[in-house]
Amino acid sequence: MTETTPIRTVISPARYVQGKNAITRLGEFLTPLGNSPLLVADDLVWGFVGHDVEASLSAAGLPVIREDFGGIPSAREVDRLTGLITQHSADVVVAVGGGSTIDAVKAAGYAAGIRWVSVPTVASTDAPTSALAVIYTDEGVFEEYRFFPKNPDLVLVDTQLVANAPASFLAAGVGDALATWLEARATRQSNATTMAGGMATLTGTALAQLSWDVLWENALPAMDAVRDNVVTPALEKVVEANTLLSGLGFESGGLAAAHAIHNGLTASDQTHGLAHGQKVNIGSLTQLVLEGAPTADITDFIEFTTRVGLPTTLTEVGLTPDDTDDLRRIAEAATVGGETIHNMPFEVSVGDLTSALVSIERLSRRVRSNAGLPEPELYQPRHH
Ligand SMILES: [Zn+2]
Repeated sequence: MTETTPIRTVISPARYVQGKNAITRLGEFLTPLGNSPLLVADDLVWGFVGHDVEASLSAAGLPVIREDFGGIPSAREVDRLTGLITQHSADVVVAVGGGSTIDAVKAAGYAAGIRWVSVPTVASTDAPTSALAVIYTDEGVFEEYRFFPKNPDLVLVDTQLVANAPASFLAAGVGDALATWLEARATRQSNATTMAGGMATLTGTALAQLSWDVLWENALPAMDAVRDNVVTPALEKVVEANTLLSGLGFESGGLAAAHAIHNGLTASDQTHGLAHGQKVNIGSLTQLVLEGAPTADITDFIEFTTRVGLPTTLTEVGLTPDDTDDLRRIAEAATVGGETIHNMPFEVSVGDLTSALVSIERLSRRVRSNAGLPEPELYQPRHH
């Protein structure tokens, strides 16, 4: 009966390192973890970090072996990377890049039975710190969460790299991190099991709330800083909120409707090509509607996230309220058994969710118009 004994738990990476030019110290922090690292980075990322990574590893007496990343964290890509780890006899695998590279590398490191490290070059998701990976089909449709017995041994973020990246990446990270508190708050109410495998601790819930507070205070000035490619104290705070606080907060504080709605949105071709955090923001707004949150809170959320540069209408994710079949399909995907929407403190039916999705278009357009914010522009999905 011990497996059913209710527990509260919090999990975290062994070490988190953040700072301007932190990448130059990667070798120093990798040394205690292994002698034979395998770096995974796509050509674009390697083009601007390869030189510093090589210099840092060489200075620490570590070999530099780099493999390309295929673009989507699918089961096939994870198997390919696992094979490469074995081929190189690597004892630690290091993901250098965005959330997709990081998730694929975590899954491959676990499958190969070695340590894994996250070196995010953008602050666009909270994937780097967690002990799970989101696996997609080769077409980019949500497939499953894979859980590992531990978090990365090291997460190292160079804030100058984050400042050099397009501002839209940071905006997406803010969208992902704002959801963390809304979902942890709902999970606290339902006492549901979190991604960490128990009920939330005070710690997990508090970190989720801290992430929210830090972002409301600093996200807009941080966006300005990134547009000038400079590191400021506001940017440092937002990078920590997007990466560490949101990562610990979602994993140990609980996911609920917002991420389930994100997963549902991936079932629609129209939304392909949008960042994770952009789709999550639609999920957050829809969750607030489902909760019957105070109108003032919903209004503030729409105004603030529009100013950050996040979508708050169906139009901006390639949908319209008239796409009834599409919206219903999204709602069905978001409410399948095992989805985190069932962590909400009330039942959410396909009908309720479809209605909430339909409602956000008119609601957001009115709020934005009243606040003098721009009208939504139609998102045109990339076709392949
Ligand atoms: Zn997320």
